[in-house]
Amino acid sequence: MTKGVIIIEKEIDSSVIYDINEYPDKNSGRCDNCNKGHFKSIISERKLIRECRNCGMKKSI
Ligand SMILES: [Zn+2]
Repeated sequence: MTKGVIIIEKEIDSSVIYDINEYPDKNSGRCDNCNKGHFKSIISERKLIRECRNCGMKKSI
């Protein structure tokens, strides 16, 4: 039996708003892309969007 782990590094698109249910935080409260913990919050379409101040990755939380 072959044992292998395929890790697909997804490129983060800052124009896409990721959903935390589909993309849970790898490290809670940290950006998946750059692992920084500084965000700004945006309300968009009644959703709270967390935007990374460093790389611009957006996630609805
Ligand atoms: Zn980031």
